[in-house]
Amino acid sequence: MLAEIIAVGSEMLTPHRQDTNSLYLTAGLNDLGVSVAFKTIVGDNRKHLTAAIRIALNRSDIVLLSGGLGPTEDDLTRECVGEALQLELRRDETLLQSLAQRFAARNMAMPANNARQADVLAGATILPNTNGSAPGQWLDTTFEGFRKLVILLPGPPKELKPLFDNDCKARLAATLPANHLARRMLRMALIPESQVDARTAPIYQQFPDVETTILAGHAEIQLHFLCVKPTLAEAEARVDAVLDLVAAEMGDDIFSFNGESLEEVVLLMLGVRNHTLSVAESCTGGWLGERLTAVPNSSRVFLGGAIAYSDRSKTALADVPAYLLEEHGAVSEPVARALAEGIRRRTGSTLGLSVTGIAGPAIARGPDAAKPVGLVYIALTDGEDTQVRQLHITGDRERVRLWCTQHALEMLRHFLQ
Ligand code: ATP
Ligand code: MG
Repeated sequence: MLAEIIAVGSEMLTPHRQDTNSLYLTAGLNDLGVSVAFKTIVGDNRKHLTAAIRIALNRSDIVLLSGGLGPTEDDLTRECVGEALQLELRRDETLLQSLAQRFAARNMAMPANNARQADVLAGATILPNTNGSAPGQWLDTTFEGFRKLVILLPGPPKELKPLFDNDCKARLAATLPANHLARRMLRMALIPESQVDARTAPIYQQFPDVETTILAGHAEIQLHFLCVKPTLAEAEARVDAVLDLVAAEMGDDIFSFNGESLEEVVLLMLGVRNHTLSVAESCTGGWLGERLTAVPNSSRVFLGGAIAYSDRSKTALADVPAYLLEEHGAVSEPVARALAEGIRRRTGSTLGLSVTGIAGPAIARGPDAAKPVGLVYIALTDGEDTQVRQLHITGDRERVRLWCTQHALEMLRHFLQ
């Protein structure tokens, strides 16, 4: 069963507007066990739209169209679907009257063009639009001998969403064979996408009925698994089978099996191990604290810390001895160590975590002048032992800072494990 979505509207071919309707429709189709095979965005152009509809009819069983049902000359979806399927458009008198009433209720005369919104494709079921004037249309038809569902929906999201939810989903569920979709996601940090793929492809390729997607970004890799089966139990068994094998291969690199973020996982582990945490941040300027405090209830284990950005505040807020800064520079192993130990003592937490590095692009001054952009030290202490890691992170300032927070959280996660 192949489904596809055509978003109609020239505005979505400009840099100013995005097609969000198709995301909404995709989620709704997935709920029904249908995955989307193709999406097209096409402008308000008769030739292009008819061609896109023909292509869709040739390759998909379900075609959802969003937009182009308005009253203006460039709203062409009805006409183009009619042309592609060789179906006539008939003006529906009942619809015409209810359109006229909509205008009358607002003390307005109905512009002649609006009558086009009462044009219905032969054989279509009208899907009433309670939030706008253009109704949707549901066509259960054939194209070159094959059964096709073609569904026309209005473009404005406030009209499309309720119409799809209230009218289309139940109709689709009643029309389609019962299908259920199971999804799982694994998340990993700090590991190159190519390495994840090289290690996991031999596994997931043995599961052709499970759709596997690798997504990389924001200093993490996500592996998504999706499977559609007649029963939920079957679908879940298949995604769980591939997930278990991949999990065994990737081991500790996986921080989340259920979609939790790295900070959520770390906070949970701190609680389980009866630890409290404080941070001293230099180059990340509070980003680490931001990530940890974005999680509700984090105050149970995260006590706070300091943005110790200048040398003076490293001393004032985390008791870093001035001679260490003079001798080694702020971006150094001894200063990272002193920051973590100092913030731990100051806040009374059981663990102290610090980050100091050269985020660039400006070259640092003083004792740090010769150090390269991307040089970072991260320290973690429990009061007895202090581990310090030296890193070389590539990329621009934004990337260096993000990866610092990711490395710091991963260091903490491995310690807690
Ligand atoms: P109208 O009667 O408003 O003309 P319509 O069915 O013809 O309705 P469009 O003209 O295509 O719909 O779009 C109307 C509005 O809805 C536009 O402002 C557009 O930005 C928004 N819209 C249309 N399609 C989408 C989409 N795929 N995703 C998000 N917004 C959309
Ligand atoms: Mg329009």
